[in-house]
Amino acid sequence: MLIDGKAIAARLKETLRGELEAIGGVAGIATVLVGEDVPAAVYQRRIDRGAREIGMASRPEQLPADATLGQVIGKVAELDADPDISGILVLRPLPAHLPESRIFAALPPLKDVEALHPLNAGLLSLGMPRFIPSTPAAAFHMLDRHTEAAGRDLESAFDGANLVLVGRSNNVGKPAAILGLQRNATVVSCHHHTSQAGHLEEFTRGADILIVAVGVPGLITGDMVGEGAIVIDIGINAVDDGAGGVRLVGDVDTASVEPVAEAVSPVPGGVGPITDVWVLRNAVAAAKLSLAPAGQL
Ligand code: NDP
Repeated sequence: MLIDGKAIAARLKETLRGELEAIGGVAGIATVLVGEDVPAAVYQRRIDRGAREIGMASRPEQLPADATLGQVIGKVAELDADPDISGILVLRPLPAHLPESRIFAALPPLKDVEALHPLNAGLLSLGMPRFIPSTPAAAFHMLDRHTEAAGRDLESAFDGANLVLVGRSNNVGKPAAILGLQRNATVVSCHHHTSQAGHLEEFTRGADILIVAVGVPGLITGDMVGEGAIVIDIGINAVDDGAGGVRLVGDVDTASVEPVAEAVSPVPGGVGPITDVWVLRNAVAAAKLSLAPAGQL
């Protein structure tokens, strides 16, 4: 079966409307796009539209591809000073001349909704998250909703389960591994070198839950998945649609995986729509933090 990410996202959005109302609507999201990466620009527009739909302030900012480090950090400081903005997101990928680590370290920790500042990344890895990065959060939210729909116990759903991750990026794969450990899964983290060593399917076949965030269309095929596994596809890849345009596909070859797996998340319509809502949810969480007494930060 396919997991319907759009339906899950729609329900989450309704909950979020309530959370936003409960704090008097005082939350806002700012996104910074540097350069002209098309998927990042599409993502920025989706966040802007989603925020406006629920009545949240939104500031989509753009800087040219040759922006200096000082200009990007200056823009972040300008957004930090905006009282209407509770969350700031610097979109990836950044142009090659800009050091990600310097920009992430310049994010104001209380508005760093993707937990990219070293302080927030550290809190997450210590099991004391201030913010949970939106894409891994969306993947686990989807898994939890699937568990509920299957009538299984939510609390113990990951206990001792083999959770295999393919991809170890700082924004998706690594935080997903941390979340899996917190839920008592046995976590295996695979990456490019696992594939190069020819070991990828050894690990993927043993997965009860397989989360794939790589950026290689159709990397995971049915023969690489164990019977009854739950497969979450995070990849978003634009491929030739054979008619002069492009279409979006994931990292999982859904046609061959669906007959083997218990459930698969599709692309599009899977994790992506939930991620869009989760970013806004983190901006509401950041607004709540800004209202909290200093001792609780
Ligand atoms: P990165 O490029 O930062 O990381 C890719 C990871 O995949 C790396 O850890 C890399 O390994 C690994 N990898 C690359 N090739 C292989 C291979 N052949 N076998 C095994 N592992 C491999 O990407 P992101 O994590 O940012 O994004 C991954 C995918 O998820 C992309 O398609 C992106 O568009 C999508 N995405 C979707 C989102 C959503 O909301 N649905 C949000 C964010 C991303 P190594 O570390 O060894 O180089």
